[in-house]
Parts: sequence; C-alpha cells; structure tokens
Amino acid sequence: MSQLLTPELVMLESDVLIRNGANRGVLPAATIEVAENISRLVPYKPGKPADEVERELGITDIVKLASNENPLGPSPKSIEAVHALASKMHIYPDANCHDLRAAVSEHLNLAPDCLAFGNGSDDIIHLLGVTFLTDTDSILMAHPSFVRYEAAAVLNNAVCHRIALNPDFTYDLEVMAAQIDSTTRLIFFSNPNNPTGTIVDRYALDRFLDLVPERVITVIDEAYYEYAAGAEEYPDSLQYVREGRNVVVLRTFSKAYGLAGYRIGYGAMRPELAAWLNRTREPFNVNMMAQAAAKAALGDTEFIARTVAVNESGKREFYAAFTELGLPYTPTYGNFVWVDTLRNAYEVYMALLHRGVIVRVSDTFDAPTHMRVSIGTPEENAKFLRVLREVLPTL
Ligand SMILES: *Cc1c(COP(=O)(O)O)cnc(C)c1O
Repeated sequence: MSQLLTPELVMLESDVLIRNGANRGVLPAATIEVAENISRLVPYKPGKPADEVERELGITDIVKLASNENPLGPSPKSIEAVHALASKMHIYPDANCHDLRAAVSEHLNLAPDCLAFGNGSDDIIHLLGVTFLTDTDSILMAHPSFVRYEAAAVLNNAVCHRIALNPDFTYDLEVMAAQIDSTTRLIFFSNPNNPTGTIVDRYALDRFLDLVPERVITVIDEAYYEYAAGAEEYPDSLQYVREGRNVVVLRTFSKAYGLAGYRIGYGAMRPELAAWLNRTREPFNVNMMAQAAAKAALGDTEFIARTVAVNESGKREFYAAFTELGLPYTPTYGNFVWVDTLRNAYEVYMALLHRGVIVRVSDTFDAPTHMRVSIGTPEENAKFLRVLREVLPTL
C-alpha cells in the first residue's frame, strides 16, 4: 500500500507513528493507538440485507428471514403518521418524546418518568453500559445470547461473564446465580432469548431476582414481548419496575411493531435509573419520524394481533416441516426458530443464499450446526421450506 502514499501522507504517517510511540517498534505504519478494550470490540454483523444479495449474486425475489423483522411490514397507521411529517424535517425532534412517552405510559400503566427512549433498544443497552459500568465492574449474560450486551461491557472496560445455556438452550440460572459477586453490576436476560427462542418463566425469574443483591441492575430485554405475552408462564416483568426494584425492562418497536428501519425502543425502570440515562444519552437520540410512527403503531392493536396470528401459523408450519425433515428444533416464544441442521450450518446458509433465501448463522452462536430462521409470511415460509428441502440432501 505504501507506494500509493503521497509525500503529505507519508509525513502524516510518520507523525502518527511518533505520537503512538514508534519506539516500541511493533506498530505498523499508520496504526492508530486505541485503548486495549476498544481494540477488543468486534463490529456487529447484521443479517445480510436483501439488496446486497441481489447485487452480489444477481438474483431477485429474495426472501430475508434473518433479522426477525415483521414480514407484514409496518402498521398502515405508522405510514400515515410519517407522511404528515415530511415537511417538518428541518425542525429538531422532541428531545423528551413527550407525546410518545404519554402514550406508552398509558399503554403500560407506568409513570412517564419511568421511561427512557432510545435509537432502538440497542441504544438503551449502550447507555446502560456507559452509565453504570466501570473497569471494576462485571456483567452476566447467557451464551449464546444477544451480543450487544457483551459489547456494552467491553466498551466500558468491564468484565463480561457468559454462562452457557443448558443443553435444551434454556438459561442455567443456578450457575448464573452462583456467578454473582461484588463486581456484578448488570445481569442481562434476553427473554425470549435471541437466538434460541427460549424463555425464563415467571416462577424461575421470581426466584432468581430474590437472589440478586441491591447493587445489581437486572436487565430484562423483551424485544419479542408481543409474541411471548400470550403464554401464561411468561413473566409480568413490569411488575418489578412498579415495585421499585432495580430491574430495567427493554421493549422495542423494531420487531412486532414493524419499525426496525426507524430505530426506536425504550427501557422501563425506576425514575432514578431513567434520570441517569437521561444524562448520558444524546439530546436528540430518537428522531421525529420514529416517535410519530411508534405512537401510531401503539394504537394499532389489530395490526399486532394479526402479526402474532401470522407468526403462530408460520411457527406450526416450521415445526411440522422440521419434524418431517428430522431436524431438531427448539420451540420458540419469539418470531424465529432455532434449528439444528445436523450439518455445517454455514454451508446450509450459503446454499440457501444462492437460491435467494437469507437465514442467520453466526460464529458468535458457537453452535456450528444451528441456524436461526425468522418466521415470515406464508409465501416466504413456503419458499424457505421448498429451498431447504432441495439443498439438504446435497450437503
Ligand atoms: C432485535 C433485538 C433488540 C433490539 O433491537 P432495536 O432494533 O435496537 O430496538 C434487542 N434485543 C434483542 C434480544 C433483539 O433480538
């Protein structure tokens, strides 16, 4: 590369070397020094976008079942709400999400100051790390689970303890509880767990929380709440917030509400905790369209009911097909299914990709034969299952 450098750039390069301590003798040219914990951060690998597959492989009619998005699209009410805003894009959004806050407060029966809104619930996870973690703290999370929890720890130089799931992909709460010590600050539950779709039920969560010391904040990430809420055993975690416990419940508009592209989620927590996040967040962290679209979506209960119904019937189709194919799957509380392909899942992923179906596999799952498949529309599910039946015998 160095033959491409102009004289100015060469000078800049040596300047960087000097400032970075070239006398240590190990830095390659133009290396920028960063803190050790920053060097351990790994860029997030999102589900592959459909138009990227179209560009790279030249195929159309892509079915993307890789990011747990709502296959029905957004609520028509959200679309309508956003149309009216196009002429207002020169105005800053409401920094306090006033109207949406009032709507969510009423929806959840929770005081408005218990809510913290974010640029997706990812933003709240990030803020929890920035606000509450230091280099003397640690977090607990399951493995495999949502990788953004670990990123929040690494970013703030805290230790991340990952507790392996049980063989049936449920949380090992005994080991998790035994790992709590004086450094523990945040405990993350993805409930349902992404990527496995399993839950910690209300009885187990109750017992676990009784073992958690005061200083610890337990984060219950309910990104798939709307899909799971119908199950009697699913926890009523907002009750812990109402009781004033150190519990943060995360919800998002990205999944069942169909607003992933607009980026909006929130945390429900004691007002004191929310007030700290209010200091660490960016002033305008939730954009105007997201606020309006979310408020409209919240009022569209018929859309959520339809979304859940489509998911339920897709789930039954998947279960039947996986059973017929002899592929072990984990019953899901979310809008995705964790299935064992019984062969190299990356090869299955690639074979599906070349036939226009995108699913999710990841090194971070540490489960080389498993894939996560989002439940789509009946047509998308049919294409996925048809293509899966074609490729499996070849692998
Ligand atoms: C999708 C997802 C989120 C968050 O998404 P946002 O789009 O940032 O709101 C958070 N947690 C889990 C477990 C998820 O699967």
